[in-house]
Amino acid sequence: MSADAVAPAPKPAPPPKLNPVRVPIAEEPVNARTGDFREVLHAYSKEDAILEAKRCIQCRRPWCVEACPITQDCREYIRLVASGDFDGAARVTLRENPLATCLCKVCYHYCEDACVVKKKGVPIAIRHLKRASLEYGNSELAYVPSKPKNQRVAVVGAGPAGLMMAWELGVRGYSVTVFEQERRYGGLMQTIPAYRMTDADVETDRKRFRNLDVTFVDGTKVGREFPFDKLIREDGYQAVFISIGTPSHRSLGVSGENLPGVLPALDFLKNVNRGVSVKVGKEVVVIGGGDVAMDSVRTALRESHGGRVTLVYRRSRQEMPADPEEVHGAEHEGIRFQFLKAPLRIAGTEKVEGLVVQAMELGPPDAGGRRTPVPVPGSEETIVCDTVIVAVGQKADLTGFGPELELKLTSQGWPEGKGKGFETAVPGIFAAGGRSVVYAMGAAMDAANAIDAYLSAKRGETAPARPDPLGTPANFHLPAGYTAPIRV
Ligand SMILES: Cc1cc2nc3c(=O)[nH]c(=O)nc-3n(C[C@H](O)[C@H](O)[C@H](O)COP(=O)(O)OP(=O)(O)OC[C@H]3O[C@@H](n4cnc5c(N)ncnc54)[C@H](O)[C@@H]3O)c2cc1C
Ligand code: SF4
Ligand code: SF4
Repeated sequence: MSADAVAPAPKPAPPPKLNPVRVPIAEEPVNARTGDFREVLHAYSKEDAILEAKRCIQCRRPWCVEACPITQDCREYIRLVASGDFDGAARVTLRENPLATCLCKVCYHYCEDACVVKKKGVPIAIRHLKRASLEYGNSELAYVPSKPKNQRVAVVGAGPAGLMMAWELGVRGYSVTVFEQERRYGGLMQTIPAYRMTDADVETDRKRFRNLDVTFVDGTKVGREFPFDKLIREDGYQAVFISIGTPSHRSLGVSGENLPGVLPALDFLKNVNRGVSVKVGKEVVVIGGGDVAMDSVRTALRESHGGRVTLVYRRSRQEMPADPEEVHGAEHEGIRFQFLKAPLRIAGTEKVEGLVVQAMELGPPDAGGRRTPVPVPGSEETIVCDTVIVAVGQKADLTGFGPELELKLTSQGWPEGKGKGFETAVPGIFAAGGRSVVYAMGAAMDAANAIDAYLSAKRGETAPARPDPLGTPANFHLPAGYTAPIRV
């Protein structure tokens, strides 16, 4: 080659090969698990976690992060797990995720739905790798508050949204008081059965708040006896976040609903979790097609000690909103499914004796895109049963939260402020929640930015950058290649 000849450009590296096959996640065998509430899904071993993490091709554009409502940098913790650095992975996990111990077990993993590997096979087990990071890395961390701001915020409701808000504002140096009507924290997560997660998981996460200026007040229902506007007028709070979620159950509105043997799903699940005796017979019918119905059928199976459990749903399997992982679990455990059947009334005189249903066929799609069930005339039948569990949705209890807030009720029932950052019509009062744990947290994250801006303005400042909750001088930043949030 002559002295001034140009060397040929190196060939671009071939794109990494996708391995479409997931390292299996071990499950407790069906015959062993349905007699009690032992955990169904097992954690990966360290070795399996590393193998699974190595399937990730570390996309330049992190689709997985964009699909996560709290922008958890899962691409980065996966990279660290693949290199065997579990402590590093735990730090990355906890940096953006104050409920990581809960979410590594129950998140509906929107990240996995967006993962590119899904185009060729099974997506990376992002949620299970989060769990591995906490199982094998140092997860005994405590969050570090920024310089005190000397401003107080009240949070009403200690579900995922309220806990996220307490963390977001606590690490920014605000003084936060969380009022909760129950004696336990976690909101609807308290109703999730112990074979998936427990109250202890909530407490593990909450323990990392210990150095923040966050006070938890349980057994206090804000509303009528304890008016929420008093928090600002008399108690010295400068902002309020209403995250009261949907603690009440919706009823069916059919006759026989007050008979002994009819149980609202939320009460049923909460009582079982708390060890309160719940009478479940040997022929149980659960009505509904969502995640609460799935948790109810599987819990009823365990509580019925050898009984038979049937799910009745008015649409077809394709329209069922429940998480496919939970439907698979229920099917695997022998739950009977009766699709395209709608309840007409609950039969019985002294107690439940049966559920009278009518067959349905699917008509045109409704506003939400799901096909509407249409009754088939003359198709009534009775499903003989001794217990009916009603899992047809939840609603908010707005007692004491007046019209001046102009709260909007979402289609799934939780109240929200209509303004930017979920501000209500009353300045300084914000309200939000969400359709899943991580969506509720994502909404609280947006509201926290708005509250920070509101309170900073009161101090005559602009809101500083979101700090690193683990106390390093670095501020929060989005991962390289991030473009925009994807809603899955
Ligand atoms: C059985 C079941 C299983 C589920 N499984 C999953 C799952 O696997 N994965 C997932 O991501 N999501 C799941 N969800 C949904 C998830 O739990 C909710 O989307 C999430 O909890 C909503 O959070 P939130 O903070 O908006 O409201 P909530 O969780 O409803 O919390 C609101 C809190 O406010 C309190 N409160 C209400 N009114 C007052 C008042 N006036 N004063 C003081 N406190 C008040 C309530 O007691 C409660 O603690 C499940 C829900 C149920 C019911
Ligand atoms: S929090 Fe949920 S959506 Fe976000 S990365 Fe973890 S598993 Fe995925
Ligand atoms: S989208 Fe999937 S493959 Fe790409 S970085 Fe995220 S987890 Fe890895």
